[in-house]
Amino acid sequence: MAHAPDASAAAPADALGEFELIARHFQRPAARAVLGVGDDCALLQPVAGQQWAVSTDMLVEGRHFLAGTDARRLGHKALAVNLSDLAAMGAQPHAFLLALALPAADPAWLREFAAGLFALADEHGIELVGGDTTRGPLNLCLTVLGLVPAGAALRRDAARAGDDLWVSGVPGEARLALGHLRGEWALEPAALEPVLARLERPTPRVALGLALRGIAHAAIDVSDGLLGDLGHVLRASGVGAEVLADALPRGRVLAEQPEARRRACQLAGGDDYELLFTAPAARRAQVLDAAAGCGVQVSRIGSMGGEPGLRLLDAAGRSIDTGFPSFDHFATP
Ligand code: ADP
Ligand code: MG
Repeated sequence: MAHAPDASAAAPADALGEFELIARHFQRPAARAVLGVGDDCALLQPVAGQQWAVSTDMLVEGRHFLAGTDARRLGHKALAVNLSDLAAMGAQPHAFLLALALPAADPAWLREFAAGLFALADEHGIELVGGDTTRGPLNLCLTVLGLVPAGAALRRDAARAGDDLWVSGVPGEARLALGHLRGEWALEPAALEPVLARLERPTPRVALGLALRGIAHAAIDVSDGLLGDLGHVLRASGVGAEVLADALPRGRVLAEQPEARRRACQLAGGDDYELLFTAPAARRAQVLDAAAGCGVQVSRIGSMGGEPGLRLLDAAGRSIDTGFPSFDHFATP
């Protein structure tokens, strides 16, 4: 796109021009695309019997990540959060686009960012086929395309009364790390390190999403908090749910936290990118096999059905007040 000239924005001596920047850091030989980076559009070949799963996620400095976040981790995370959406649909990653606003074309930063981005891209066989590059406050907007056999996607509106409710991994760890970075609480270095990795280097559950096709009914990835994201499934599917707060996995670091903080992180913490999904109770063994096959822990944390809405219960079956807004505020450590 053409830009208005900006005489005040003088480029640093070692900064790259826009096209040199793209060619050096983001253009690689097209593998699966008919035509990749470099023309006005990329060309992708539709696949018979498959549907495109398409999603965009934007990461804004100061909003989705802290200023000064390591460039390599940021490259990983920008793609990971988008792959997570494909995982939540049970889609096979295929191609992605990268729209990038950068305050400066810093070659060292770009090298690190691209290294993090392409390491994860190569792990999942997803190909960068285009994008846009402009000067501006740091902002990363990725669009991913995945393939899923027609009718096989794991949709939010597919949960049924009687389904089990499952979650992968250990939701809450990313929020625990964020609280430390924000000064809401302080973790010892040995506790911080593993949970910080969850925040800065989330693992998109792509293999699990694929393995759950034909087994799970509905799925969503936990990006904004488990209860909030579950709410989307309940509304879309028109069912209620009962969540057993103490059935949520803890891990060592969460288990060491005071109960109120632990529960707030587990139930309302975002940024985990775990899969929350429902499956018929008759398929418990299949769910466990699918998860074991991709080396991912899954926990059965409740069930769907009953009255509309969400009920949260403790181990003794007592109702816990979810108080969504207070979980969002995160006022109390
Ligand atoms: P246009 O003028 O049509 O917007 P550009 O000059 O912005 O095209 O981009 C030139 C080519 O480089 C296009 O193929 C575009 O998809 C690709 N591209 C631009 N920025 C990026 C990026 N950050 N990552 C990957 N491809 C990019
Ligand atoms: Mg452009």
